[in-house]
Amino acid sequence: MKEHDVIVIGAGGAGLRAAIAAQEAGADTAIVSKLHPVRSHTGAAEGGINAALRDADDWEDHAYDTMKGSDYLGDAPAIETLCKESPEEVIQLEHWGMAFSRDDDGQVSQRPFGGLSFPRTTYAGAETGHQLLHTMYEQAVKRGIQVYDEWYVNRLAVSDEPDPADRTCHGAVAYDIKSGEVEGFKARDGVILATGGLGQAFDHTTNAVANTGDGVAMAYRAGVPIEDMEFIQFHPTTLPSTGVLISEGVRGEGGILYNDEGERFLYEHGYANNDGELASRDVVSRAELTEVQEGRGIEDEYVNLDMRHLGDERILDRLENILHLAEDFEGVDGLEEPMPVKPGQHYAMGGIETNEFGETCVNGLYAAGECACASVHGANRLGGNALPELIVFGKMAGRHAAGEDFGEAQIDTGRRGEWEPGEVSPPVSPGAIDSPDDPALADGGAVAAGKDILRGAVKEERQRVKHLLETDSAVGHAEIRDSVQQTMTEFVNVFREEDGLHSALEEIRAARERYSNVTVSDPSRTFNTDLIHTIETRNLLDIAEAITLSGLARDEFRGAHWRAKHQERKDNEWLKHTLLSWDDGQPTLWFRPTVLEGENRSYEPKSRSY
Ligand SMILES: Cc1cc2nc3c(=O)[nH]c(=O)nc-3n(C[C@H](O)[C@H](O)[C@H](O)COP(=O)(O)OP(=O)(O)OC[C@H]3O[C@@H](n4cnc5c(N)ncnc54)[C@H](O)[C@@H]3O)c2cc1C
Repeated sequence: MKEHDVIVIGAGGAGLRAAIAAQEAGADTAIVSKLHPVRSHTGAAEGGINAALRDADDWEDHAYDTMKGSDYLGDAPAIETLCKESPEEVIQLEHWGMAFSRDDDGQVSQRPFGGLSFPRTTYAGAETGHQLLHTMYEQAVKRGIQVYDEWYVNRLAVSDEPDPADRTCHGAVAYDIKSGEVEGFKARDGVILATGGLGQAFDHTTNAVANTGDGVAMAYRAGVPIEDMEFIQFHPTTLPSTGVLISEGVRGEGGILYNDEGERFLYEHGYANNDGELASRDVVSRAELTEVQEGRGIEDEYVNLDMRHLGDERILDRLENILHLAEDFEGVDGLEEPMPVKPGQHYAMGGIETNEFGETCVNGLYAAGECACASVHGANRLGGNALPELIVFGKMAGRHAAGEDFGEAQIDTGRRGEWEPGEVSPPVSPGAIDSPDDPALADGGAVAAGKDILRGAVKEERQRVKHLLETDSAVGHAEIRDSVQQTMTEFVNVFREEDGLHSALEEIRAARERYSNVTVSDPSRTFNTDLIHTIETRNLLDIAEAITLSGLARDEFRGAHWRAKHQERKDNEWLKHTLLSWDDGQPTLWFRPTVLEGENRSYEPKSRSY
């Protein structure tokens, strides 16, 4: 058994920032990660980090843009924390040596990004995430923070009191990918989940194969509510054959989108008469798909993104990485020809419910980064707002877990404060049954209080691994994962219809039934990726079901969530977060009002046009 004050699960931007903060606050801190830190998906971020750095800019404008971008579903205390703290955090990165792009006068450069009223996106060429990750990893190494890399965390050790708010997280259980051993990691003070995105629930995604929503699924099964799962961001510029991202930085620098008729459709067909290509991502994604559906797409699939008019010098200076991606993954030379693009799954606005300090309702359990939902992005994230979220809330969670007191949070967690029960109309059949008698599915829940919780969790996890390795059947994870991904891309995509969402739910539940017979065909103990992918697939099933159920519940059109028969934003009914709790092995739906009261102002919902 390993033991530390604070255990951070995940070594991307959020995990590294959390670990640095916890260590600086005096805690003996360790990171446990299934990947080596610099292979984390933060390294793929291209475009930049939003921060109101200039005299002519203001954090309050950033907060306003973010609330408007969220379609008034963000919580003001979290949004204001993000916007107030991000300048200091970006300057901190610069002091740690991050190689930001600079203007001729030496100032850190900023570029326009979609939905921003000021060009406040700082960047390092088109490799911002790579720079950020390496800069923070250096700081983690410098501080001697212990990193257990290639350890796959498959369960949290959480006690099982009836109300999750009375539960405590004592640590986590992880599988050593190198040796095949299952071990406990005891956390004396706190566990921070920083496990990143869940894009692998879809089949066309910008996310890496490692982005399987593990942290969200583990927290959910341990009793932590998951919030606003229906809000999935589809990025408008992904390469059609692979889903590889072409950064919004291209449009920020002046790149133009054309349909098959050579029209600049965002203006010519009235989708975004003011901001055109720099409208918010949900708006541009819907516009592209509408062009394709109305017969103006190219090869009935995509539109063109042209940056040739920017000139070779500017492209090579600011967007060189984009040239490599287009050439390597689509065989297109961006200096000579337009790049084909279409919408692809990119980001999860929802996730593990936290307050503005990164705390969940379970004592000693925190979350930060893409896996968390402090409710900064609401119904739609603005480009360039995820990286500041990592560093602002990563730091906050790290310091809190190490024992710093931030006073009372304004955002409630768990079923404290105001909330109401919810149901899907028309009702859907009961969801997953997490049967303790089914060893393939019976993972990740809370462990009976009164016995040694971490040891109990390790024992159960060893049994699950043994069971998966010994089951003799023809069902493998790949077929299940494929069918879930295709179902999600077909029915739970940019455009959502009620029948499609019901079909998706049926498919997911059928896949879950098949999963109860899943087997791992590779018997080896070392680097058994078959086993890891099998466990990840279990998480994807829970994630896909949660996205679909929440999507069915919300019968309105807000931000990234478009419903065919509900074409308006229903503020009277829906200024509230969707929450799902895992009660006795099945999802329970409930709601909590959105917090629109900020420090000095109230954010009155307005119509959202660009
Ligand atoms: C292609 C792309 C480009 C983007 N560009 C931008 C941009 O320009 N600006 C912006 O603001 N945002 C951008 N985003 C979004 C942003 O990059 C991500 O939201 C953010 O980097 C996620 O960081 P994270 O620390 O939460 O997770 P990650 O960086 O994904 O790290 C997750 C960590 O968790 C670990 N982990 C996961 N599961 C387990 C497990 N079971 N056990 C142990 N460890 C585990 C992984 O090993 C990894 O270390 C982009 C996203 C993509 C996909």
